[in-house]
Amino acid sequence: MSQHSFLTGRTTGALPFLEYGLGDDRLGGAKMTYLDSNVVMKVVDSVKDDYKVQLSTYHSGWLAKTSFKQDSFTRIPPYHLTGNWKVNGDDKYDYVTVSLDERLPYRSIQEVNPSRIIVDVFGVTSNTNWITQLSTAKEIKNAYYEQTEDDVFRIVIELRHQQHWGYFIYYDSTSTSLVVRVKRQPKILTPQNLLVAIDAGHGGSNTGAGGAISGIAEKDYTLKIAKEVDKYFKAQKIKTFMTRTHDTDLTMPDRILMLRKEDPSILISIHLNSANSDTVKGVSTYYRYIGFRSLSQAILKRMQELKLKEWGNVGSFNFALSGPTEYPNCLVEVGYLSNREDEKKILDPKFHKLIAQKIYLGVSDWLKSLK
Ligand SMILES: [Zn+2]
Repeated sequence: MSQHSFLTGRTTGALPFLEYGLGDDRLGGAKMTYLDSNVVMKVVDSVKDDYKVQLSTYHSGWLAKTSFKQDSFTRIPPYHLTGNWKVNGDDKYDYVTVSLDERLPYRSIQEVNPSRIIVDVFGVTSNTNWITQLSTAKEIKNAYYEQTEDDVFRIVIELRHQQHWGYFIYYDSTSTSLVVRVKRQPKILTPQNLLVAIDAGHGGSNTGAGGAISGIAEKDYTLKIAKEVDKYFKAQKIKTFMTRTHDTDLTMPDRILMLRKEDPSILISIHLNSANSDTVKGVSTYYRYIGFRSLSQAILKRMQELKLKEWGNVGSFNFALSGPTEYPNCLVEVGYLSNREDEKKILDPKFHKLIAQKIYLGVSDWLKSLK
């Protein structure tokens, strides 16, 4: 057997993530997953600012060099094994805890009809000989695995409700057990039972798009609109959280980590669009994970009542704030600053209040549609 040279180390920093390839556009390369820190990484190649990491025999990904810390003491044995699992709940969440012999990379997808969370763990083979399931788990209906490839272990979590309310994947701080923490559906489906996070896009030195005629900065109007949304929701006796309330610089990782700490029920991000052509106009909503699509559809439907053209409902969207799996989230691009008609509306403070009302109605419609 030939011995190829590679580096071993671990993920580092607050918010490491993997990308599928070296593609690049204004949203960056397509993100595979956010990862926990101290996850073992085998670097096999290097291109500019990224390392190619081997995840399993047939899978690789790309990791920013700044998210990698070399550690020559980390040994990569010929194989890793899974151990036994536990499925349980506490007063707030359900948990699937899978014992592993190393902090290995993973990624997840969501499925709907039926609703399932699928987590692939790379570089590991099953030695799971039982899965204990306790009745304290309320949202998890079933948990099981498939060994989809010799060294790709698939965790399947079936949910009781049709709607995904989010989940967070991390390693237990005292062991090498992988934990999938699953959010339950609220018992009473009213907006008053939610903690609604509102994110005003851009801010500080990141001004965003500019108004075609007015020259206004996107960052100022996302904040004006976000504040109206916050006011409207508060008036309906709904708890809210805003990622920014002033014209401040806030990176995407800052926002994601802040939201992780706040643990909202849902997130609404407000942006204003821009295109090279001044005839492109209309409202659009965005999601990354299919389990969160319904929220973005409900909001889009209500937003169209503002006589905004339907630009569309966009899925698999590689926007940083569409990436978190912890809560249903929706990016709203209210309209195009590069289009005269949309811009005129966006400049009008009365329109901001209407947006707030429509987003509220969208969230209410969404909750009413759930079982
Ligand atoms: Zn924007």
